[in-house]
Amino acid sequence: MENLYKILEDKYGISKEIYNFVDEAEKGLKKDFENRKIISQYNQVKILKAMQNQKLQSTDFNWTTGYGYGDIGRDKVEDIYADIFNTEDALVRPNIVSGTHAISLSLFSLLNKGDHMLSISGRPYDTLQKVIGIVGQEKGSLKEIGVEYSELALKNGSIDIQNIDEIIQDNTKLIAIQRSTGYSDRKALTIDEIREASDYIKNKFPDIIIFIDNCYGEFTEMYEPTDFSADIMAGSLIKNPGGGLAYSGGYVVGSKDIISRVANRLTAPGIGKDCGLSFGMTRQILQGLFIAPKVVEDAINSALLFSRVFEKLGYKTIPKSTDKRSDIILAIELKDPELLKSFCRAIQESSPVDSIFTPEPWDMPGYEDKVIMAAGGFIEGSSIELSADGPLRDPYTVYYQGGLTYYHAKIALMNVLKYFI
Ligand SMILES: *Cc1c(COP(=O)(O)O)cnc(C)c1O
Repeated sequence: MENLYKILEDKYGISKEIYNFVDEAEKGLKKDFENRKIISQYNQVKILKAMQNQKLQSTDFNWTTGYGYGDIGRDKVEDIYADIFNTEDALVRPNIVSGTHAISLSLFSLLNKGDHMLSISGRPYDTLQKVIGIVGQEKGSLKEIGVEYSELALKNGSIDIQNIDEIIQDNTKLIAIQRSTGYSDRKALTIDEIREASDYIKNKFPDIIIFIDNCYGEFTEMYEPTDFSADIMAGSLIKNPGGGLAYSGGYVVGSKDIISRVANRLTAPGIGKDCGLSFGMTRQILQGLFIAPKVVEDAINSALLFSRVFEKLGYKTIPKSTDKRSDIILAIELKDPELLKSFCRAIQESSPVDSIFTPEPWDMPGYEDKVIMAAGGFIEGSSIELSADGPLRDPYTVYYQGGLTYYHAKIALMNVLKYFI
């Protein structure tokens, strides 16, 4: 103990007060960490077995060129994803450039002029508002092609199942549910809540497609929305399922019919999933997936430690350290633009890469307000790595997420606390 404190004091100037404060909070989380281990092991079994079921071999990591016909590795990645997420098929590609792209691709594949899309988890994530056409005048938004949109606000942080019937229209084609907090002030929706809503809809309106934005949710619980009645789900490989190793990419999982539509939209009708290089990334994608449960465990434990510490300091955190978790995000209402900037700067300074840079608020493409982002990761913009960001708007909430290792996050927390203690 004394040696650990000494090196933190020597290298980072951590005070005894900060050290003890964090140590105390950590001791109080022992039981939560134990529970988390079980979820993590459950997911490890699923992933290991999927790789064996699909007979992954070392030769699957080889490159192909040109059209990429017969890229066995690419096909295995997709079969493994489908196996893990319990769907008929999957599309997992490095050239799906982000989570937004994976979601946008899914929506444009399934919605046409005259269709109605309904979000039942309130206002969607910032970048999707431009995709849908809720804000801005983006060329080629869903609105521009004639897709109608409406949303059902959450009620006390949960899906307002009682009022779903009322808001569904004759032309409602797709219902979207966002699992994670995003840049909002609500908790992630748990698998139980998502399941209840999707079962209800599927029973009553079997033709409506249930779409899940699963960003940041993967492997935080034992089950995923597609283990139950969700039809299609999308996410980013530079968040949870890439385990910090995938260079880029996104995934979409669902039925054969749905995935063939999505693939035809990504490439071209008639080509679908059969073309597209994986650019030698199969190994990183799968190695990242393999370690993802452990990485997600550490990221959640890091978020738990941050939330417990900031609660003790009197800040409002979402979720609370005692809430059930279904994503890796922690929102802390700092109520002060300067504290938001300081928090992000301390995270940046604590990063293994780009620690010499100072983050500044900027107009990030796809976002309405200026956003400050701290991330010094090995993969640019990867938010399964230790990162913190927040839009410069009241109540100046910082969204903290990631941490490839818990120990790294803990050091960063102590550096952040220099501005608070
Ligand atoms: C991160 C995220 C997205 C997509 O973001 P990208 O930065 O485009 O990967 C979409 N929805 C939610 C809830 C997210 O957290």
